[in-house]
Amino acid sequence: MAQWSVVQAGDPVLRRRAAEVPADQISSKPVAQLVDRMWKTLDAVPGVGLAAPQIGEPWRVVVVHDLPEFIEHYTELQLLERERGAIEPYVLVNPVITAVGYETRIHFEGCLSVEGYTAAVERFHQVDLTYVDLEGRHHQARVGGWHARILQHEVDHLDGVLYVDRMNTRTLCTTDNYSDLADLPTGAAVDAVTGDGDPPA
Ligand code: ZN
Repeated sequence: MAQWSVVQAGDPVLRRRAAEVPADQISSKPVAQLVDRMWKTLDAVPGVGLAAPQIGEPWRVVVVHDLPEFIEHYTELQLLERERGAIEPYVLVNPVITAVGYETRIHFEGCLSVEGYTAAVERFHQVDLTYVDLEGRHHQARVGGWHARILQHEVDHLDGVLYVDRMNTRTLCTTDNYSDLADLPTGAAVDAVTGDGDPPA
């Protein structure tokens, strides 16, 4: 395995429920080393989020950031549609999320463990989040938009769930093909991929 590679679909570690980090281990050296490896891997790839099972470690630890350089190529309208903005890097130990209401959003998303593909996935618009940081402090927050999508994707990883389990299967698309559609509003991109927008033959 290359130094900072991400475990790919088919490895059972991605399908098992990851274990909670015991409270007395959260500020331990092994956990700090795990998080360090996760950041280095995420930076090397790069991506917006990574769960520990994606580097082969079955623990409930997630790192998230959405850097200005990841979103600078989007127009203001595209960022508004995705409800996406920069997220400061942070580490979540034992995160728990619960949906707020039933409102959902559909957008294309990909996964570092399913290289080369993207698909439209319906996610809750808002979630309530609780987690512990590396100093053992408890946090809670209500999160919406793209940030909520990232959290749902990453916490799914801790439960052995991949976005392909939740995607609209007809929208599965190579990232190469999707690059031609990335500028479209999501609804139009879905129509383009599925052919559903075409007039009846
Ligand atoms: Zn993923």
